[in-house]
Amino acid sequence: MTVLFWDIDGTLITTRRAGMYAWNDSVQELTGRQFDLKVQVRTAGLTDYQIAVKTFELLGVAPDPALVERLVRRYEELLPASLPRKAGYVLPNVREILEQLRDRSDVRSYLLTGNTRGGARAKLTHFGLIEYFPDGAFAEDAGARSAIAARALQLARRTAPVADDRVFVIGDTPHDIECAGAIGARTIAVATGGYTLEELRAYDPWRAFEELPAAGEFVALIDGSSRGAQPHAGRCVST
Ligand SMILES: [Mg+2]
Repeated sequence: MTVLFWDIDGTLITTRRAGMYAWNDSVQELTGRQFDLKVQVRTAGLTDYQIAVKTFELLGVAPDPALVERLVRRYEELLPASLPRKAGYVLPNVREILEQLRDRSDVRSYLLTGNTRGGARAKLTHFGLIEYFPDGAFAEDAGARSAIAARALQLARRTAPVADDRVFVIGDTPHDIECAGAIGARTIAVATGGYTLEELRAYDPWRAFEELPAAGEFVALIDGSSRGAQPHAGRCVST
């Protein structure tokens, strides 16, 4: 079985940060304070729970786990109405690749994301991609991002035997590359998010592209990968 673990933001889609409306409104409801996620938090690489902790810290509010949970839940509720407020889109070749892989019984796609399950569902429903992802691993608490990658691999292995050299992470940040290394996966890095090709290459991904290649090329890449290089030993950090 070949397993593909897909990041969401900057890899499958860009929301153009439309989620910040839902976030800021949730913060205001819970704390009575004005908050601007865009200005106040550098969110790249942080999970939604980690962003929640950071938000409360910046407001001088103790990030009690129950309060963090309430913020994340309210954000999930407000997110669907928030997404149409910016002209986000599905990134190049994504839909064609997922469509081509849909009928392959030997390839499974899962989400591997710092979004919560509800946040991921809202985004992929909005962009019409939810049907391609029956399951995945999501942020469930403020713990390390590497734990999400480990859960993703467990999930895939519960479903079918997974060959060690046939696990891929597709992502747009150094965090995706490092997390892939932590579970022995190969990263297909794409510069469609917040990082340039040069910046991504510095982290030694298995492959790196300006954008995802055309569907035929992508499928040939994963099908031919067993002749390729071994994944590099990486370390997962969550800075
Ligand atoms: Mg991303």
